[in-house]
Amino acid sequence: MAVKTIPNAALEQAENLLNFIGRAPSAYQATAEVAKIMSAKGFREYQLKDLTNLKRGDKGYYQKNGSAIIAFVVGDEPLENGFRIIGAHTDSPTLRIKPNAISVNESVVRLCTEVYGGGLLNSYFDRPLSLAGRCVLKSGDSFKPEVRLVDFQEPLLILPNLCIHMNREANEGVKIERQKVLLPIVALSDECEEDWLDKLLADELGCDLDSILDYDLYIYEYDKPCFVGRNKEFISAGRLDNLFSTFCCFNALAEVSDHVRPGIQIALATDHEEVGSGSKQGAASAFIRDFLEALAYGLGANRQEFLDLHDKSYMISADCAHAVHPNYAEYADPTHRPAINGGPTIKVAASQAYSTDAYSAAIFRELCAGAEVPCQLFVNRSDLRGGSTIGPITSRLVPVATVDMGMPIWGMHSIRETGGTLDVYYFDKLCRHFYSA
Ligand code: ZN
Repeated sequence: MAVKTIPNAALEQAENLLNFIGRAPSAYQATAEVAKIMSAKGFREYQLKDLTNLKRGDKGYYQKNGSAIIAFVVGDEPLENGFRIIGAHTDSPTLRIKPNAISVNESVVRLCTEVYGGGLLNSYFDRPLSLAGRCVLKSGDSFKPEVRLVDFQEPLLILPNLCIHMNREANEGVKIERQKVLLPIVALSDECEEDWLDKLLADELGCDLDSILDYDLYIYEYDKPCFVGRNKEFISAGRLDNLFSTFCCFNALAEVSDHVRPGIQIALATDHEEVGSGSKQGAASAFIRDFLEALAYGLGANRQEFLDLHDKSYMISADCAHAVHPNYAEYADPTHRPAINGGPTIKVAASQAYSTDAYSAAIFRELCAGAEVPCQLFVNRSDLRGGSTIGPITSRLVPVATVDMGMPIWGMHSIRETGGTLDVYYFDKLCRHFYSA
């Protein structure tokens, strides 16, 4: 059998992605890590009111809620060439810790959770879990409480399965009763201390217990991302959907940012895609349009010139796609067979669950050809509904030609997903080409 070796450049790029994912257990850390990457390449943080007197070569970023981020580089003749956008999302399916989280049963302390997004819940069992997110503390100003990121980085929790001896049918499929069983175990104790979690947070953050006002906390898999396969042809990590695209597009923009090209180069990543994008920092929010509008004014455009930019612009809505699974090959459409390490995959849906049309797909094919990367196609089987992305949602307020595409993975929405090492390299190449072509 032919052994396909993975070039060193691909291993290196994939390793960068895996390290990024390891540092980004929730949307908050993902956003902060992106900001670090951009800052290191000279991008300055802007507030909307500071987007004035912009000129060719200016570069910066803007954060919304600490969980969404937009970066830009001003290229040549920006108002003639429009926005060139790659959009992704910072969030991934997981379990969110409920406000009154402590539940003690049989002298075992458990945390109450809610399901966030459409996770493959069976993958959450029998593996060490940790907690990350943000904590909001008293600051002396009620309207400006202090926000601190928190990541325990230790195996704090576990969700043990019911043993096979008590459910002999387990291998035929287990119904997961969310309210009853999605309570990860965190300690042993006879009494129910209601502020047990607040104490843990105060300890971790080194602050007073009574300064803790609230938290947004999510579980994540403790084990680190890694390569898999005889030739490291696969990557195995949580949150490939969609830190894969998030890392690649921002990193590429940062890397090529000193070579200004036509138009206004944009990388963006929104929050809450996995639950419909309907928050102020989600793709359905006006914040993307507001930012683009402020940016256009900063470049000297008037309102009409800003509106005119939409017809000159192009967006890649970048997410993950379903590679054909060798053990479940019948779930893929017979004439569309996206493969791991087969390259960026255009996603098409008559329902407009993907925003791709012939026009936006044609441009994307040309981009892939220019970047010298292969290009694949995905459509759902006609009898399967499939998922969606931010593309059709951003298109409502930012009406630009948009292609939906993704990097092919297996096990989408599992706590650990499987992707292709070479695909990281391909997507990185494509993003660099897009921002510098
Ligand atoms: Zn996604």
